[in-house]
Amino acid sequence: MLYTMTRTRCHSGPRAEAHLPFARDSSHTLMVLTDLGTEPSVGELWSDMMKRATKLTLLALVLTTVIILVALVKEAGENPTFRASDHDSLEECLRNIPTEWLDGSIERTGAETACMHLHSGSGAALQRSGVRTEDLYHSLSVLASDSLEGRMTGTRGAAKAAAFIARAFEEYGLEPGGDDGFLQSVPMARVPMAGGRARYVLLQTHSALDTIPEERRVLDANVIGVLPGSDPELRGEAIVVAAHFDHLGVGRPDESGDSIYNGADDDASGTVAVMEIARALSSGPAPARTIVFLAATAEELGMLGTRWYLDHPTVPLESTVGMLAIEMIGRPDSLAGGRGRAWLTGYERSTMGDILEESGIPIVPDPRPEQNFFLRSDNAPFAFLGIPAHTLSSYNLHEDYHRPSDEIDKIDFEHMTEVVDAAIRAVRVLADGPRPEWHPGGKPERPTGRR
Ligand SMILES: [Zn+2]
Repeated sequence: MLYTMTRTRCHSGPRAEAHLPFARDSSHTLMVLTDLGTEPSVGELWSDMMKRATKLTLLALVLTTVIILVALVKEAGENPTFRASDHDSLEECLRNIPTEWLDGSIERTGAETACMHLHSGSGAALQRSGVRTEDLYHSLSVLASDSLEGRMTGTRGAAKAAAFIARAFEEYGLEPGGDDGFLQSVPMARVPMAGGRARYVLLQTHSALDTIPEERRVLDANVIGVLPGSDPELRGEAIVVAAHFDHLGVGRPDESGDSIYNGADDDASGTVAVMEIARALSSGPAPARTIVFLAATAEELGMLGTRWYLDHPTVPLESTVGMLAIEMIGRPDSLAGGRGRAWLTGYERSTMGDILEESGIPIVPDPRPEQNFFLRSDNAPFAFLGIPAHTLSSYNLHEDYHRPSDEIDKIDFEHMTEVVDAAIRAVRVLADGPRPEWHPGGKPERPTGRR
């Protein structure tokens, strides 16, 4: 043969191509063209079908891929994307998390965690106690969420808050310090006053609840966890670390129509600090003295939870050698030195401030003694009983105080992380170090008729 020939198939059917290296011989060319008309064999038909089937399968695959890609692109359009690294500060990062992602959803939690990791660039102090900004944020977002309805004493929101704190205490391995596990129930009564207002009074016993009309009964609970001391000499002594978890509930709306008084700073911030101190100290070496963690109810109604605790203490008051309350640490106070600084009420009254200062803990005297904060928080009833008791705070007299706008987005988490770090170290020093004492004349005189 003077030529070669190949057969191929295409959409239009059988086709032959002749390669004629010696095309001079035209009769052979003719013969090849004649060849085109021959019938395909069964084998050829089968192979033809198989090739078509393969092509159809490939076509189906391509179509499926296109459909999937279109669906993915569409979903990406509906599902907003978020990159923590696109933001300059923690606040900006948190503020820009897509609002479509619900509280507690995987997307929101993931984004929040990413923000915390990238933007909580606090200093070396942070590493001393191991406190983590994301833990603060998580707990505060629960306590200050709208679903807790402002944590008004006696409401479902307050009960949810108490359960949340109790669960944390249990998780940290604290011993229950209440009368029902971690809860210490507090009986109160609502006394109607003119103008639709009401005041609240503490009852002396639970059975007294039965003596008043049902609609005036109020029952709530302190949450108490105990970390037992380890020193044979000192474990009989206790330090109380406290914050109030109640707030004002749902009330008169502000200009924006918001009626939920979230109390993110007052005092979800302090409550979170108490929880974080419990977490940190329960995971480190056991403290020398026993520590009582008290999340108190009904502070806003007249420190009723604290008063009940003092009548029913978990550790006898004679053995309670110091008390630290934590109030409103969510925003920096420029008078105290700004970010990362907190002040101690009644600093000059006892050696507590000196003890902390000597340990290098960045806590300063109350810059506004004229406000008399020393007597305005949960430390006061303890102090009147003679126990060196102070409040740690960085309240800067902000205008959101006791308004619906005391919200989590106003919390400065970098500042708060540093203050909680200082508080953790402060409680460690109080539990292990010298016992705080009143300076001469420092102990307050109890106003007559009140504790
Ligand atoms: Zn408060």
